Amino acid sequence: MIAIFAMEVGVDPDIPTYCGGLGILVGDILKTAADMGLPFVGVSLMYHEGYLKQKLTDDGEQIELPEDWQPATKLQRLDKRIQLKICGEPVVVEIWCYYVRGMTGHVVPIYFLDTNLSKNSEHIREATRRLYLGDKKCRLIQETLLGIGGVKVLRSLGYNIDVYHINESHAALLILELIRELRDTKLVRKKCVFTTHTPLPTGHEEYGVALLKEVLAEEYHPILQTLVPDGVLNMSRLAFTYSAYTNAVSKRHAEVTREMFPEFKIDHITNGVHSLSWTCDEFKSLFDRYVTGWREDPRRLVDADRIDNDKLWTAHMEAKKRLIDFVHKSCGVKLNPNVLTIGFARRATGYKRAYVVLEDINRLRAIGKGKLQLVFAGKAYPTDYDGKSMIRKIYKGIHELKDDVKIVYIENYDMEVAQLMVAGVDVWLNTPRPRLEASGTSGMKAAHNGVPSLSVLDGWWVEGCIEGVTGWSIEDGDDRRCANSLYDKLENVVIPTFYGNRAKWLQVMKNTIIRNASQFNTHRLITEYMMVFDRLRGQTST
Ligand SMILES: *Cc1c(COP(=O)(O)O)cnc(C)c1O
Repeated sequence: MIAIFAMEVGVDPDIPTYCGGLGILVGDILKTAADMGLPFVGVSLMYHEGYLKQKLTDDGEQIELPEDWQPATKLQRLDKRIQLKICGEPVVVEIWCYYVRGMTGHVVPIYFLDTNLSKNSEHIREATRRLYLGDKKCRLIQETLLGIGGVKVLRSLGYNIDVYHINESHAALLILELIRELRDTKLVRKKCVFTTHTPLPTGHEEYGVALLKEVLAEEYHPILQTLVPDGVLNMSRLAFTYSAYTNAVSKRHAEVTREMFPEFKIDHITNGVHSLSWTCDEFKSLFDRYVTGWREDPRRLVDADRIDNDKLWTAHMEAKKRLIDFVHKSCGVKLNPNVLTIGFARRATGYKRAYVVLEDINRLRAIGKGKLQLVFAGKAYPTDYDGKSMIRKIYKGIHELKDDVKIVYIENYDMEVAQLMVAGVDVWLNTPRPRLEASGTSGMKAAHNGVPSLSVLDGWWVEGCIEGVTGWSIEDGDDRRCANSLYDKLENVVIPTFYGNRAKWLQVMKNTIIRNASQFNTHRLITEYMMVFDRLRGQTST
C-alpha cells in the first residue's frame, strides 16, 4: 500500500480543501490510481472554511470570504477517532473519508483529519479552519497533525504502508513518527519518497527547535535532538535526508533544485494531469470516436492525428461558446466567439507575472485592436500584497483598453472555472519569472482540449514546446523583454496564423493532443512513480 501525504487535495470541485497546483496534482494522482486499480491511500486535512472564496471590486480589490460548504454532504465521518499530544495538550482528531471511485470501480480512500471539536482548545481547532492561514505556530500544528497524526490514523485503521510519499515538505514530520515507531532510520529511509514542488526559498520551511519542542510531544524530543543539531529544522532537508528517492516535478525544476540542495541526489518526474477530469465533453466525444482506448491509457492520444479537422474546430467552438456564456453571466461582458482569445489563470502571485501582457498598453492596443481578447482569473493569498496589486494592475488595463481589446477577470478561480477556461480559450498564456515555475499544469489541461500554449520556456514547457508545432515560446528575461518577445510572437506568428491559416492552426491544435496530452498526463506520471515504489516495496518486504 502506498500512502500519499499532502497539505491540500483538490479531488472534487465541491471539496474546497485546495489552493492550487499541488492539491490538484495530488487529486489527479489519486484519481488515476483509482482508474488503474492501484493500492493507494491519501492523507490530508479537513478545512472547514476551505482556502478562500474571492470577490473582486470594480477596481480589482480582492475581498476574501470563507468557502461555504458542508463537509458532511461530500465526506463520510468515521466512527474511529485518534488522540495525540500537541502543545502539551491531549488532542482528539476526527477522521473524514472521501472515496475516489475509478472508472472500473476500484476505490482509493482519502482521509481528512479534523480537530474542530469542542473538546479541543481554540488554537488546536483553528488548525483545521483554513488552508495555509495562520501564523508559524499554527502552521507547525497543522504539519504535526498531517505528518504525525496522519501516520497514526493509517495505523489505527489497520493499514500496512510500504511507501510513504511525502508530497511537499509540509508532510515531512511523518518521518519523526516513523523513527519513533521503527527505531531504525535506515528502514525509515527505505519507506519514504519525497517530491519537492517549488523552487521558491519560502517554500522550504524552517522551524526553530524551541517552537518544535513546544508543539511536539516529549517522546519526539530525543529524535529532534539528533535531527536538529544546529537548532533549526529545514523541512525539505529532513525529507531529502530520510527518503530513498527524491524528485522534482520537471527536468528544469530538477536542475534548479540541485543547485539549491547540491548535497542530495534529485531525479525528476514531470507532472501530468488526469485526462478524464480535464478534457471537456466535446473533446471526450472526439477522442472516443477517433482514439480507441484513450480513457484507459491516454498515452494513446499520440494517434489523434486521425481526428477530422472540421469536427475538431466545431468541438472547440462549442467549448469556446460555453466559456463566453459563462463570462457574460459572471462578468457582464460579451466576448466575440470569432476573436482570438487568450487565457491566463493561475495563483495571483509575484513570480507568475500576470501583468506582463499589459506591460505596454499602447503596443497591445495596436497589435490586438479587434483581433484579441483576454480572459484572466486567479486568487491572491490573503497576505500576498504583491499578488493583490497585480490584480489591481490588470483591472487598470481592463479600463484603459475598454473596447479596443476586451479583457475580463473571472472571480474565484477554482477547478470549475479552470475547466471552462482551459477548453474555451484559443491560446494558453504563461509568463512566469524564469526558473521559478516548477512545472505548471494548467497548460497540460489546455493541451487536452487542443489549446496550445504561448509560454516562457520554464517548467514543463521546456519539455513540451516544439516551436510552431505544439505552440510557441516567449523569451526569458525581465518584464519588458518578456513583454516585447510576447508582442512580437503575437503580431508576427500567432495572430496571422489564427486568422490567415486555419489549416496550420488546426494542425497545431492536434499536435498539442498528439505530443503534449499523450505525455503530460497522470497515467504516464504514475507509471514512472510505480517503478520507484515497486523497487522500494521489493526492498522492504524481503
Ligand atoms: C490546474 C490548476 C492550478 C495549477 O495551475 P498552474 O499552471 O500550475 O499554475 C491552480 N489552480 C487551479 C484551480 C487549477 O485548476
